[in-house]
Amino acid sequence: MDCLFCKIIAGSIPSKTIYEDETVKVFLDISPNTNGHCLIIPKKHIVTVEEVDEELAKHILKVEKKIYQILKDKLNIEGLTIVQNNDLGQEVKHYHIHLIPRYSDDNWKMIFHQESLLNIEEIHHKIMN
Ligand code: AMP
Ligand code: ZN
Repeated sequence: MDCLFCKIIAGSIPSKTIYEDETVKVFLDISPNTNGHCLIIPKKHIVTVEEVDEELAKHILKVEKKIYQILKDKLNIEGLTIVQNNDLGQEVKHYHIHLIPRYSDDNWKMIFHQESLLNIEEIHHKIMN
């Protein structure tokens, strides 16, 4: 299938993975809005929230809590904004949830698809070490 995120799951396109289990993968967004901006994706190819069943939703909630704790420990984040686009505004047509760390000085306003000047190599190293 010609899906970018399925290729990331298969490993044919590299990603800065920070968490993975049999159901989901979590990796850093290539164009982060703030440091630590990451995406949770199900391993199963689905597109919108309409296809998310309760079991997956429950699992994703658990993973969101786990990642929040990891980012607090590793990056000292002060808050976490969680957003998810469906259809219009959704660039990648494989279901994904944005986890956007908040910092009191981030000046972040919910705007996607702008060029990012942040360095994900360094942030990945901080989270994983
Ligand atoms: P959305 O507009 O909700 O579909 O968001 C898609 C997100 O995927 C954007 O924030 C992109 O920066 C991100 N993205 C696109 N390609 C990659 C990639 N190869 N690795 C990590 N994130 C990506
Ligand atoms: Zn896919």
